Amino acid sequence: MKTVDLVVPCFNEEEVLPTFVEETNKVIATLPDYKFRYILVNDGSRDNTLLVMTKLAQKYDNVKYISFSRNFGKESAMYAGLEHTDADLVFVMDADLQHPPAMFPAMLKEIEKGHDCCALYREKQKGESFIRQAISKMFFAMQNATSKVKMPNGAVDFRVMKREMVDSILRMGEVQRFSKGIFCWIGFDTKWLPYENVERTIGTSSWSFWGLFKYAFDGFTAFSVAPLKLLYILGILMLLGGVGTSVGMIVSAIVNGYCGYFLPVLTAILFAAGIVEVSLGIIGEYLGRVYFEVKERPIYIAKVKNIEKPER
Ligand code: UDP
Ligand code: MG
Repeated sequence: MKTVDLVVPCFNEEEVLPTFVEETNKVIATLPDYKFRYILVNDGSRDNTLLVMTKLAQKYDNVKYISFSRNFGKESAMYAGLEHTDADLVFVMDADLQHPPAMFPAMLKEIEKGHDCCALYREKQKGESFIRQAISKMFFAMQNATSKVKMPNGAVDFRVMKREMVDSILRMGEVQRFSKGIFCWIGFDTKWLPYENVERTIGTSSWSFWGLFKYAFDGFTAFSVAPLKLLYILGILMLLGGVGTSVGMIVSAIVNGYCGYFLPVLTAILFAAGIVEVSLGIIGEYLGRVYFEVKERPIYIAKVKNIEKPER
């Protein structure tokens, strides 16, 4: 019998969590060949999520939880959960039932076929605002164009992975984590299955417009140096522009006998200064990342838990 750990990051999910476990248990009951265990990660919720978790742990002995000292973000919660797994197979999924447990059998079938991982992507973005859909499309298009890490449009963090893959993810100890990229970067054979997006019926999404934008930006800079490459292109264009104006000046001096180039020069100066500013901004962005990475801060801090990290 294969063991399966379900890693579930939870932030303010007191309302949905009991339903989540109930619904998931129904699906688990149809899969007698697997032994399931929940690893619920309370990411510094401001509601009674932890209390709900402890109650669930009293009711079901396969419910384990880890509770953070503050909100560290979903990425840290996923890492903490993965670090506490020791099962043959590990699922990562949201607590809000937007990642339907009904997909378990289909996903496990792909693993049985020999894939290392089965991950899902949303076919339609039902129930999402136009702006969010547009940002999401742009995100995947830019991600795939600028980085070697490729993922299908609409990829979500709902997947099942074999032990080896989880161990590889844990070896990526970066603090500013972008799991969508990490999952792809480590390689392995992933089968992508489509699923129909489910609207969140209980609780609210904790992503703001700005939060999503930042997430997308973190994604590009974590796995691509395309913004840095842009610097070279801008630099070369600038030099070519300089050559052009120089030629223009010489030609004008020969033909007209003078070169009153006050405005063009001013434009060139402003333009150059602008580019330098932008360049410095981009370099600063990467430097900032190096700065935070060399600090080697812990990815999360757990306050209470009813599960110990396995020896690796
Ligand atoms: N989540 C988390 N920490 C956060 C924000 C979200 O652990 O700081 C969890 C949340 O409880 C849920 C999952 O991440 O299980 C996805 O969050 P949400 O539903 O808000 O995002 P969306 O589905 O809108 O992308
Ligand atoms: Mg959600």
